[in-house]
Amino acid sequence: MTKDRNIESSINKENDRDESAEGPNIDNQVLEGTYPITPKLTQKPNCNNVPQYPIPDNYIVETEIAERGVKCETKYVSNSKVNYTVAWKEGCAEWSVNSTKSASAVVNLFLKKINWKNSKLSGPRVFGFDIEPLHNIRIQMNPNSIITTKVNKQIRPFEDITSRSQQHKRLKSFGKDVKKTVDELIVKHKLTDSSEQSIIFPHYIEFEYKENQIQIKFKNLDSKIRLDAVVRVCDEALLGRDGYRHLAAVVPSLFREYLVADRRNEINKLINAQIPVEIFNIDQDVNQSNTNNYNSEIINDILVDNNEIGNGAFRSLVTLLKILIPIWKKGENPVIIPGDTLYIKLGGDGRNVGRKQNHVMITFCLLNEGEEVLKPDKQYSICLYIGKETYEILDRVGKIFALQLMDLKQNGIIDEDGNHWPIEFFFSGDWKFLYIIMGLNAPNSNYFCLYCECDIKSRHNMNLSWPPTGNKKGNKKSSIFPVIDLLNYIPDELHTLLRISDILMESLFKDLFRRNDFERNIKEKIEKKMSELNIHFEFYRNNSSRSSWSWTSLMGPDKKKMLQHFPISEFISGVRGIIIENLWKEFYQLYEFMRKPNYTEEEILTFENNAKNWVKTFSQPARGQINTATVILGIYREEDVTPYMHILTMHIPFFMRQLKEKNLAFRLFSTSSIEKKNHCQVQLFFGGTTMGGGKKNKPVVYDILVYENRKIFYLINDIPNEITYKNINICE
Ligand SMILES: [Zn+2]
Repeated sequence: MTKDRNIESSINKENDRDESAEGPNIDNQVLEGTYPITPKLTQKPNCNNVPQYPIPDNYIVETEIAERGVKCETKYVSNSKVNYTVAWKEGCAEWSVNSTKSASAVVNLFLKKINWKNSKLSGPRVFGFDIEPLHNIRIQMNPNSIITTKVNKQIRPFEDITSRSQQHKRLKSFGKDVKKTVDELIVKHKLTDSSEQSIIFPHYIEFEYKENQIQIKFKNLDSKIRLDAVVRVCDEALLGRDGYRHLAAVVPSLFREYLVADRRNEINKLINAQIPVEIFNIDQDVNQSNTNNYNSEIINDILVDNNEIGNGAFRSLVTLLKILIPIWKKGENPVIIPGDTLYIKLGGDGRNVGRKQNHVMITFCLLNEGEEVLKPDKQYSICLYIGKETYEILDRVGKIFALQLMDLKQNGIIDEDGNHWPIEFFFSGDWKFLYIIMGLNAPNSNYFCLYCECDIKSRHNMNLSWPPTGNKKGNKKSSIFPVIDLLNYIPDELHTLLRISDILMESLFKDLFRRNDFERNIKEKIEKKMSELNIHFEFYRNNSSRSSWSWTSLMGPDKKKMLQHFPISEFISGVRGIIIENLWKEFYQLYEFMRKPNYTEEEILTFENNAKNWVKTFSQPARGQINTATVILGIYREEDVTPYMHILTMHIPFFMRQLKEKNLAFRLFSTSSIEKKNHCQVQLFFGGTTMGGGKKNKPVVYDILVYENRKIFYLINDIPNEITYKNINICE
């Protein structure tokens, strides 16, 4: 038997050498042969475990059997007949034996011929039909060759198997063969690197069986990034747990929902450790020292019931800046470079949730990011609560941040690399938010203005000028964010658009309501014109007083369309109709200018004059003699000039000039991105989804800030929100 082992070892050597060979170069000891289109297979061995191999044509291999160097050859004599030869030398004489029966037959013939005792050897083994690299080379040389597989007639058709475990067993063995074949094909198609290592790895393969999907999994993926990407995409697509569970139920290749939920919780823990989310109650004073104390004593005290009203949550601005600064300053086009001042804009917005309650959001963004801050994702919430937008409540919020804001304003912030960043604060919001934060009166009071002491009676007078020196006459309370300088409260273009177009609509409709035929004619005509502009718009009777009309309140995009295209002169006749129609169009142009990313000094001056002339036309009194042909009717009354018109003409040009010096555009202060953000988060967390994650033991506002924390986790860790797939379609 020792001799047999010699044979074995010499063949193994052959085997090893070929496997370690660098490429499909023909070794002088091997002519690897080719497979015919349908190669003959080696005989079926008695033992089921031994595979059958295809037999190559014109194949020569030199090897060693029984201490002799031999040359084994194959040659097809017909489609189904192969002549096997073994040749060797005895001294100077050359000998050979051949057979068309099988490789084993010729090998045993040879052993008999040299009188080797105890001689039974595997022909396929000696001939090396099982040497995989050679097999692969042949496949490459003749990719048309079909390696026919004999059907095993002894096993039952899959359809006849009813036992699930038997089905499973069958598919498992099928899967193993599929994997093996796929691996061979990867070699055949050379999906490898330069050192012949496979660089393509099958994950799974899917089959359809009747109504069922069968997925054969080849390997457990190290798929943390993919899992993180799924968690991220669910957050961004606002896909809650239930939604994902339903989706995963029909797409077997998706991660199970519990895996996604578990990973989400892990991410929460990781990021919350970096950016703690604190809870407070708006009905209780928040002690300032708690802002730096993260052991969460306040959490246990406050959450005694499930009532969300009064709940608040906040994150430290300092902590957020320390995490975001490295992101802002990295990359080829950093947002900030050492030496820059960080222009931080605080903002606020309230949105209705339920009866008479608001979801109030205090955010910040880095204006140095430029146009990017117009995206809701670039607004970071620092505080949320469920309650009303009142001075008393916001004052408590202000106290949470008072110390750190003051410190940041005075000392700036030092990042992990030791860079010092000075900070300048701004604030922007709609009028209501601004006057509360500034501690001023409502816009209907006599001294209404946020910036000056213009009184309600002088508001229409465009010949006056009102530098922003502050409004001590309207100043009743102290400002909630004292770190913000008067001139850093920037009015908002969005609400300037919304509120002034409200006045334009109201004034137009008031005229039309007086007509006898409003109800039976004009009403329908207006609705029809709006519909032609793709604006859903209706008049309806007021519930409280049946005699007056209300109408659909329009959002920004509809108002823009209406200002540009509504044909007012079809409703108001003569010069007056033309003037009003022009007022609408000109106001739209003023609005467009506020939205420009940049402008020159001259353009600002033109804008200022146009805005003033616009208000003059708007409030133009009647001229000429009444009841004569020369009369020009007045447009609207002086009292109709609103606070927003005052801001538009007297202050916005000033802010544009001031911001231009800091390379900031007025439009960056729009509240539209905060409103969008608030809208999305309210939909998401108050819309009945389980986005917050199943069991509720924390208030919703806490969940929202954790959700925002996760976004920062994705940012820090570069979690992708898309993974590219190459789709190869070979369907006929
Ligand atoms: Zn003013």
